[in-house]
Amino acid sequence: PPLDVDALQARLAAAGIHTLCVQFTDLDGQPKGKWVPLHQLAAVLAEGAGFAGPSIRGTGLPRQGERSEYLGRGDPATVHPLDWLPGVARIVADGHVGGRPFEACPRRILRRAVDRLAARGWRLRTGIEPEFFLLRRDAAGRWAPADAEDRLDKPSYDLRSLARQGGFLQALRRALEAAGLTVLQIDHEDAPGQYELNLRHDEVLRSADHLMLVRLAGRALAEAHGAVFSCMPKPFADQPGSGLHVHASLWQDTGDGGPARNLFAGESSDPMHPQALSPLAQHFVAGLLAHSPALCALAAPTVNSYRRLAVRRTRSGTSWAPASISHGPNNRTAQVRTLADRIEWRLPDAAANPYLLSAGLIAAGLDGIDRALPLPPACRDDLFELDAPARAALGIGALPASLAEALDTFEASALLREALGPEAHREFLALGRAQWDEYAGHVSDWEWARWADA
Ligand code: GLU
Ligand code: MG
Ligand code: MG
Repeated sequence: PPLDVDALQARLAAAGIHTLCVQFTDLDGQPKGKWVPLHQLAAVLAEGAGFAGPSIRGTGLPRQGERSEYLGRGDPATVHPLDWLPGVARIVADGHVGGRPFEACPRRILRRAVDRLAARGWRLRTGIEPEFFLLRRDAAGRWAPADAEDRLDKPSYDLRSLARQGGFLQALRRALEAAGLTVLQIDHEDAPGQYELNLRHDEVLRSADHLMLVRLAGRALAEAHGAVFSCMPKPFADQPGSGLHVHASLWQDTGDGGPARNLFAGESSDPMHPQALSPLAQHFVAGLLAHSPALCALAAPTVNSYRRLAVRRTRSGTSWAPASISHGPNNRTAQVRTLADRIEWRLPDAAANPYLLSAGLIAAGLDGIDRALPLPPACRDDLFELDAPARAALGIGALPASLAEALDTFEASALLREALGPEAHREFLALGRAQWDEYAGHVSDWEWARWADA
């Protein structure tokens, strides 16, 4: 049925909403937007809220002319209240330029990937697990855990810090639930100041919208609690970094109104069984692994991301971040941990743009299916205990060691150019290279300490 805009507006007004937060995501994965009075709802849905295109990172739009205007057109399926901003409801927007969907809009890019699946009668569901730090500056101006008492050597699952940060964590949970998300678990991660949220799996586009809400709510609420919500992939060299694990499964609707079928479920519900995943899922994983060096640019998009992947030893033991092209049954040391009905992709970090990441995941998996790529042998070893020669002997390759290497691989990837579209592929590369050049030209404290009087 066509959307009844007046009814939607009346419903929102009755719920005390007076303002829409029209939100989109830039190529860097940052939430951006405008506040628009609720009486403009019809315009936000029909034309969109207007933005200066070139002022949005990664659009590549000109400063004047028809294509300088970026319209964020609200998706009515995404309206929900922002719990910490009484009277304000978020609506997620799709970019439009020159009267047409903007092909380099990250959400549009994921929509195209979803459409490719839909053409086969398939849907991807993802369950995301954002990890993050709560930080503040200490008296000396250094970044430190916001919870000064959080100093355990082995802080995983610590309940004391969870309780001390309970005000923030419960506010975050309430904000997510008010928006219709299902929070499954909240725990203390393996570094002081680090926490994790597990969200229930949902359609891939919705999960990406959900992650952006986590970022938006996390930052606002942490600020209100005197802390900084950090998605930095590796804040402290001797502590684990923050991952963004993605659990994924492919589904097919049966057509007769019956329950959808999980196409990843194999012969056994035991994840250790060699046929725990269906042949289709095995091809999907093979494609994902084959393209994972190029996908690093999307999954590990910052200079800092590669410290998470490179440093294995941490004060608490290990980093739990994968550094290899590997998979294994219930193996948390591999890039893809396979389970009986789904996979857990452990490569992405907390800085990733969830739309581009998910579009890349779909493109790589579909390529594995279309080319019937064979799955390399499963790894049942602790990969963090194997050195590079031992991994190579098992046929396990390495991931790019730096953003520069990842960007070169990304540039050469015809699959990702196709998946993102030429404009977004080019702009993403330009932003990444600018980031790398800025970093490469910076003289760090470490260099001073190492060479000043050498
Ligand atoms: N923090 C780890 C990472 O960087 C993951 C820890 C876990 O297994 O939950 O990927
Ligand atoms: Mg975790
Ligand atoms: Mg996980």
